[in-house]
This record gives sequence, structure tokens and C-alpha cells, in this order.
Amino acid sequence: MRIYADNAATTKMSRTAIDAMVSVMEEEFGNPSSLYEIGQNAREILEKAREDVAVVIGAEPREIIFTSGGSEADNQAIRSAGALGKRKGKKHIISTAFEHHAILHTLKRMEEEGFEVTLLDVHENGLITPEEVEAAIREDTCLVTIMYANNEIGTIQPIPEIGAICKKHGVLFHTDAVQAMAHLPINVKEQNIDMLSCSAHKFHGPKGTGFLYARKGIPLRNLIEGGAQERGLRAGTENVAGIVGLAAALKEATDGMEEKMAHVAAMRDRLIAGLKQIPHSALNGDETRRLPGNVNFCFEGIEGESLLLLLDDRGICASSGSACTSGSLDPSHVLLAIGRVHDVAHGSLRLSLGEDITEEEVDYIIKNVGEVVEYLRGFSPVWRDLMSGKTEFIL
Ligand SMILES: *Cc1c(COP(=O)(O)O)cnc(C)c1O
Repeated sequence: MRIYADNAATTKMSRTAIDAMVSVMEEEFGNPSSLYEIGQNAREILEKAREDVAVVIGAEPREIIFTSGGSEADNQAIRSAGALGKRKGKKHIISTAFEHHAILHTLKRMEEEGFEVTLLDVHENGLITPEEVEAAIREDTCLVTIMYANNEIGTIQPIPEIGAICKKHGVLFHTDAVQAMAHLPINVKEQNIDMLSCSAHKFHGPKGTGFLYARKGIPLRNLIEGGAQERGLRAGTENVAGIVGLAAALKEATDGMEEKMAHVAAMRDRLIAGLKQIPHSALNGDETRRLPGNVNFCFEGIEGESLLLLLDDRGICASSGSACTSGSLDPSHVLLAIGRVHDVAHGSLRLSLGEDITEEEVDYIIKNVGEVVEYLRGFSPVWRDLMSGKTEFIL
């Protein structure tokens, strides 16, 4: 059996998206800026993709800017709000301690450039409250940026409520919706979202393509100097095939989304219930306010990395902490933010399920995780100390 359960890292491209891209690459190679017909055809295809994307999130086409992915969109949103704030003498930004590194590292840079950043603490359940955001807003706050759903533990923030508070105080509100898109219903107007980032490869589209939604009237800053593509906000000849692939994947993923996600959530709950049976384990993040496909556990006394490798031998692709930090010995900043101590955070496992997951596959995962955890504990010195009472169990 081979089960891909790392959909939060990336997804397999959909056949529909591949076919859409191939047809563009084979037949529509024109440059959208060229005035002759094949150029104009490419332009039309590009603008149709923009309309298709805008419809899904309740935006207008001109509010969508195509980027190279979620990271670029996050960078551009923060940089734009920062530039605007600076002009008004507002140099304070609010975010949370467990954002994606595309946000956290950009904010670090902003601090070096004289901005002040407040990172809100996340509760043990992986959530923050709108009241906490409101309490952190100051006269000089120019931006609140809070992720829609967390990429490691899947917790879903109260986005519409936070947006309403930002609106009330006249502060721009950006959300990294990379994990939420095509999994949760998103409507930027109804949910009070000023800016939103998105990435195609998290919903069966191509890597290297994403978009930034920015409400009409928000002056954006370009990150790349050059031509006037994307209304001067993103220079460089457009990745027409990638953009078409993004639009096709988004449309496909959001058609009948509710039904698909109900199935995924049922499989998630089955998996959670099964893994809970493993002694000295704990679910990370709120049990219900989490992405339909996200399961994240800590198992005391073991190393997440070893767990991953042994699961890979048994045909299960999963992740420990975030894919971007594996390779480093630091435990996930997300797990530390929800209060897991280092040792416990090291023994984490994230399983992110896709739409086609079956009950048999879930049961196979439960059985194999149970066996591998027991096996690893068998020769773990940490586990021996716990069992002998030399150290105390935390979970
Ligand atoms: C994957 C991811 C990103 C980065 O998107 P890329 O398209 O890979 O740059 C940003 N934020 C979150 C929450 C993500 O999961």
C-alpha cells in the first residue's frame, strides 16, 4: 500500500489542471503583451483565469494579482501594507507566533527596517481570539496579518471576526489562506478580508503559481522591477500555463467542496480516534476547529524523524513539524507556540489527508503508526527513563 498523507506540504496535480496547462503550452505560446492575435489570445486566456479565480473568493478580477506562489503573495502583502503605513507614520504590525515562515521572516526584515511587530501568543488549542487582536491594535498599527488555517496543526482562526475588528479600527487585514483555500468556504467581502494569499500547489495545481487578492483601493507595492505586467505590480512575462493550471485546479477543487470535505473530515476523525488509543500521545490543536484533512499528534519518548522514515518504509508519506524545517534540529515553532516542550515537540507527526483517502487507508495508517511508535519506544533511552519513573510523563 502507498498512501500520500502529506497534502499540506504539496498535492498531486489534478489531471484537469495538467490537461489545461498542456493545451496552453502547446497551442497558446504567445506573450500576453503582444498585440498580434496569438498574443491577444494568451491575454484573453489569462484574463479568463483571473475571472475564474475571482469568482471563487467573491472578489473582482482586478483585485487578483498572480504571483509565483504563497510566499511571494505573503511578502507582497506585508511589504505593501508596510510602505503605506510608513507614509502615514504607522509602523506597527500585528501577527501571531505560529505563522508560516514566509510571514515571520518578512516581519523580521520589517523589524530591521524600523517596524515594530507584535506576535500574539497562541492558546494551547492553536487559536487566538478576536478580543486579543483588538487589544493589541494601537494608533500606529498599519497591518494585522493572521493565517486562515495553520499548515502544521490545521487550526482555523476566527477570520471574519478578526476582519471586522480591523475594519472598525481602520487597520488593513491580511490573511495567509494557503492552507484554507479549497478546503474552507472563503468569501473576501463577507469575511472582511482586505488581502489574502494563495498557492496553487496546495490544491492540486502547479508549483510556482499563486495569487494575492487585494481589495480595490489598496495601493500595492511591486517586489520585482521591470515591465508593466499585472498592472505594474508584478513585472515579468506572465506564467500563462501555470495561471491556467491554478484556475482549473481551483475550480475543480471548489466544485462540490462541501461534500468532498465532509468525507475528508470523517476520515480525519476516524484517524484521530485511532491514534488517540496509542498511550502517552496527544492531538495537537483544537479537535474540531481544524482543517478537514489535518491530523497532528505528539508521541512521547520518540523522535518524529525516525517515525517518518519507518512509516515511509511501510508506504506512508507523512511529515514531522513543517517540511520547511525538517533537516534542522529545532522543533517546530508552531508546536512550541502552543506550549509543547522541546522533547514532546520532537515526537510529532502530521498527516494531511487528500480527498481520495479511504477508510482502509486510514486503518492501515492507524495500525502502522501504532506499531512503529511501539517499536521505536522499545529502544528509546528517553522512553526507558519515563517507564522506570526516572523522568515524568508529560502526555
Ligand atoms: C505552503 C505555504 C506557503 C508557501 O506557499 P508557496 O507557494 O510554497 O510559496 C505559505 N503559507 C502557508 C500557510 C503554506 O502552507
